[in-house]
Amino acid sequence: MTTPPRTFRALRAEQVFEIAWPDGPEVRMPFRYLRGRCPCASCVDEFTSVRKIDVIDVPAMIGVEAASMAGNYAVKITWTDRHDTGLFTWEYLRKLSDTREWEPPA
Ligand SMILES: [Zn+2]
Repeated sequence: MTTPPRTFRALRAEQVFEIAWPDGPEVRMPFRYLRGRCPCASCVDEFTSVRKIDVIDVPAMIGVEAASMAGNYAVKITWTDRHDTGLFTWEYLRKLSDTREWEPPA
């Protein structure tokens, strides 16, 4: 099981999540990126695994209405586009954190 982050907070002014892993990276993950990586059934086809909502489909000004813990293994996020069915497990967030794929290539 993935160790929960030391820090997980939404910095609304900067539109990023600050996520710090005890045994891994400390990242500033854009809201838009994470909304576009939502793993729920309306964003990813359950049968084909084809992504239906990707980062490019998300409005640049997307915000976070609320974020609440689901047990100790995930966080549920309500976005300003009213989407709230995504459950982001620590395991999934850790995997995304390690990719840093939202960062422009150096
Ligand atoms: Zn979704």
